[in-house]
Amino acid sequence: MKMDCATDLRPQAQSLASRYAGQTVLAIGAHPDDLEIGVGGTLAKLRKSGAKVVMVVASIPKDFDVRLEEAKRGAQILGCELRILFDRGPTRIEDVKTCDLVGMLDDVIREYNPAAMLTHSDADFHNDHLLIYQACLPTQRLAHFDFYSYHPTNCRPVPVRFHPRAYVDITDTIDAKMHAITAHASQFGGRGLDTEMYREFAHLQGRMVGVPYAEGLDVSRMLLS
Ligand SMILES: [Zn+2]
Repeated sequence: MKMDCATDLRPQAQSLASRYAGQTVLAIGAHPDDLEIGVGGTLAKLRKSGAKVVMVVASIPKDFDVRLEEAKRGAQILGCELRILFDRGPTRIEDVKTCDLVGMLDDVIREYNPAAMLTHSDADFHNDHLLIYQACLPTQRLAHFDFYSYHPTNCRPVPVRFHPRAYVDITDTIDAKMHAITAHASQFGGRGLDTEMYREFAHLQGRMVGVPYAEGLDVSRMLLS
């Protein structure tokens, strides 16, 4: 009998969302909109499955009030809690000392005791994103949470060397992801940029694993029982 290897022999998918039900997941991004673009579908899925999801946005570099409202709206659409690290006004991450940034993230870890962290990767090309990733790395010494990185985030597609090790099926939350991205109107419509590429990219990621839509994650640390 002829067997279709692409479907019949695939391992049974395990739910990332159920892994963290009843626990806290921290998603950390440099700016408003990074988390919606990078892992919006995953965050909505985690939330729907009973995890507490905290979106930690490090800074708002300019247009503070407008972008703060957009960040609140994006988090609301995904059902997540929002935390702005530098919440008193416009801040550029490169103006903050690394030790201070790590100290602030250490405090966030101690406050929330997360089961998992999702943040930028070393494949990113935006210096603020790299600074946040590098500041997140040492927080792993404080507790044994799972540590993931999401695909580099950008307003226009550019080549990057990011290699996902795991894919989250976001077919049931792709609409929430797209809705949350468009909450950041100042970053897209106002600049003549199209958000549909994020749907197309999620579709392409999904094709890698045989589902309609997916988000790829790099896995730095994960405990398997
Ligand atoms: Zn950013």
